[in-house]
Amino acid sequence: MVFDEERRATLKSMYFPLTLQQAAASPGGNAENSYFWYFQRTTMEKYDVVIVGAGPAGLICAEHLAAAGMKVVVLEKKAVVGDKVCAGGLTEKDLEILPVPDELIEVRMRESLLVAPHVRMHTHHPKPVLFTVDRRALGAWQAGRVQQQGGEVRTAAAVTAIGDGHVVTAAGERLAYRWLVGADGATSLVRRHLGLPLEKRIFTLQYRIPWHDEPRFEIHMNGRYFHSWYGWIFPHRNELVAGVGGDPRYVSTGWMKKRFHRWLERTGLDITDARYESFPISYDYRGWDFGNLFLAGEAAGLASGLTGEGIYQALVSGKAVADKILGRRDTFPEIDRILRYNTIQHKFMGVLIKAGPLRNMILDGILLYLKMNGKMKKRVSKALT
Ligand SMILES: Cc1cc2nc3c(=O)[nH]c(=O)nc-3n(C[C@H](O)[C@H](O)[C@H](O)COP(=O)(O)OP(=O)(O)OC[C@H]3O[C@@H](n4cnc5c(N)ncnc54)[C@H](O)[C@@H]3O)c2cc1C
Repeated sequence: MVFDEERRATLKSMYFPLTLQQAAASPGGNAENSYFWYFQRTTMEKYDVVIVGAGPAGLICAEHLAAAGMKVVVLEKKAVVGDKVCAGGLTEKDLEILPVPDELIEVRMRESLLVAPHVRMHTHHPKPVLFTVDRRALGAWQAGRVQQQGGEVRTAAAVTAIGDGHVVTAAGERLAYRWLVGADGATSLVRRHLGLPLEKRIFTLQYRIPWHDEPRFEIHMNGRYFHSWYGWIFPHRNELVAGVGGDPRYVSTGWMKKRFHRWLERTGLDITDARYESFPISYDYRGWDFGNLFLAGEAAGLASGLTGEGIYQALVSGKAVADKILGRRDTFPEIDRILRYNTIQHKFMGVLIKAGPLRNMILDGILLYLKMNGKMKKRVSKALT
């Protein structure tokens, strides 16, 4: 469906100019304020779709909407698109949705190392299983694609309030929308506006460690250091990203920090010149379609509470929201698949949480089983990538 002039004319008719009497009755009191308010309201920029947040979800959504002729703007609070705490790990399924160019891929890993308390599994995969990217480079590239399709991406444009049919930015601009998409991540304002609670979060800590040696892709599982979650080491061009995560309802952040540093010491990674980062991951899904308001990616709580993976879910849901707005379809089996997949992961996480002192035995047992069962190993590897 193409959103042409006729559609725009219909949209325009939705925004009647306000009278000065209405302006006088506005909050503020005196005539000067009223004029200011009147001026702001009548000069409100009008968009078919306003998207809050220029992460993978918001940008893919904008690209598809702009390509279909919609007038769309993405508002990003940061000065730079893609300035997001992330390990920057992609798998093949991400690349199937978003054809990230070769030059953006920093490292392609065929080697992986899984480490449980008493079992280690080193695998040489026939195809790369992990592709790492710099999130700023990915963001700049995605933003370029939006602009090529005629969409707008504004940085340093934090949305501070959501009114009836419009949003307000920190600079006081008002932008009217017909559809509003909350792609504003784990701390989503749009989600709060919808009154949705946020209870399930992963708290993460990671270091970006300068590294000029062989790339390392490692997943460490050990209840002693990570409770029911895991520690990761992802390779980038000139650094390794090593981090941990855990749900603060089950592990205190103090415990996590202490154990994380102990584990880093054990692995021999030197954090003297490393950059420390921390950010939550939301996995509290409560829906994504709320009439003319939508949530995509982590704003919708679509990340995995076990692995912390969220870019794939952001891309899938951002594209789904665009399709829904464009009236292209009403069923979204790919979202259902994500929800089913997350449910399985969360059930496994529940087992580990409840396992207490048996946790390490379970982790050793699983890894030993995978090591000895080639077929199952392939299936698990396929499911995860
Ligand atoms: C430490 C860590 C490591 C991770 N590693 C991986 C990984 O290797 N692979 C993977 O798949 N996932 C990973 N994730 C998860 C992944 O980063 C997110 O799930 C993914 O970025 C979600 O995309 P999104 O578009 O939904 O939101 P985001 O990427 O979070 O983008 C939201 C954007 O909205 C902006 N914003 C927020 N509020 C406002 C506002 N009021 N106004 C305007 N803009 C606003 C933010 O600045 C941000 O740019 C990791 C997460 C963390 C914390």
